[in-house]
Amino acid sequence: MQATARVTLCVSGSVAAYKAAVLARLLVHGGHDVTTLLTKSALRFVGEATFSGLTGRRPEVSLWGEPGEPHVAIAKQSRAIVVAPATADLLARMASGRADDLVAATLLCARCPVFVAPAMHPSMWRHAATQDSVERLRARGIRFVGPEQGAVASGDVGLGRMAEPQAIFEALAPSLRAGPLVGRHVVVTAGPTLEPIDPVRALTNLSSGKMGFALAEAAAALGARVTLVSGPVALTEPAGVQRVNVETALEMQAALWAATGTDLSKADAVVMCAAVADFRPVEVSRTKWKRRGHSCALELVPNPDIVAGMGECRTGQRPVLVAFAAETDSGIELERRAREKLIRKRVDAVVANDVAEALGGDTSHALWVDAQAATDLGRSSKASIARSVLERITRLLGA
Ligand code: C5P
Repeated sequence: MQATARVTLCVSGSVAAYKAAVLARLLVHGGHDVTTLLTKSALRFVGEATFSGLTGRRPEVSLWGEPGEPHVAIAKQSRAIVVAPATADLLARMASGRADDLVAATLLCARCPVFVAPAMHPSMWRHAATQDSVERLRARGIRFVGPEQGAVASGDVGLGRMAEPQAIFEALAPSLRAGPLVGRHVVVTAGPTLEPIDPVRALTNLSSGKMGFALAEAAAALGARVTLVSGPVALTEPAGVQRVNVETALEMQAALWAATGTDLSKADAVVMCAAVADFRPVEVSRTKWKRRGHSCALELVPNPDIVAGMGECRTGQRPVLVAFAAETDSGIELERRAREKLIRKRVDAVVANDVAEALGGDTSHALWVDAQAATDLGRSSKASIARSVLERITRLLGA
């Protein structure tokens, strides 16, 4: 789970209001505590029950009725406020500092980052009055997500569609992060690679990707921006994590270098958890190998050792490099092999585990091996091992 942040979701009256429910769900799924404020006209498009069901909190709709000053209290407790959809009318009210309903009054009290996702007919968006509001709001630091080009409710096409909930969520995510790794970029690889032989066959391995995905989640929970380079696995990426899908080792290598930059300056830590295929076929056949008339020999070439390449390139202490080693050994032999890899690949630590315990399951038994010592991280869930690994990386980063 991400660190919990209070997010206020303001919904105004537009056909796009139904997409606000998806945004509420993404925020809740990301571990955030969501308060929904609905304008009177939003209630014509969506119901209170939708948002109370999704967020576990009754939406607020009025300035009146509750004791105290709800707009002041809500603004104070918000780490961020997102207005989605934001109508032309609401933008105009925000720009002129109105406080004539709970949404406008809360926005006027806000001291936290405010994001707006406009949704309206393209003619309304283009209108000088709306553009004037947008300019004034931008100058005050309000962040706009969209609108997008495309078909609007009337069927007309132009700039005015609300941005997709996922894009709004991603724009918001950095403001919701908390923890020692805020401002740090952690790159994690996960899963197997898949090396094609012909259009229907491939060389791969049994890695499930669970450990890598748990590491990405643990890094995000500590506030890091996370890029997850994943081989083919049947897993959903943790909320707020940027996923890059790859198949072959060469694709993984290219995606990794793109994430870290060729001088490695774009990453603070790289956790190489993927089970990279050591070899790939010399040639990928464009036609399917036939049972008859084809040699049984498969000629292979070694894949580059991706993490060793990074170890070789690194000049200083950044990024922190952590490799994983799945071995068929245990005890002292496991540690010996891990230490040999630590030196050969020039990484800061190797997390070693016995394949018999680690492969495919939800638990593992891991050993953290660095230049100083070997520390048993215990036999536990991959989520808990991931947290221990990230704690150690946080220390190495001095964060
Ligand atoms: O396969 P091996 O035991 O050497 O893997 C140890 C570490 O090296 C893992 O972190 C793995 O992701 C990485 N590796 C790599 N490129 C390869 C093979 C392994 O980066 N071609």
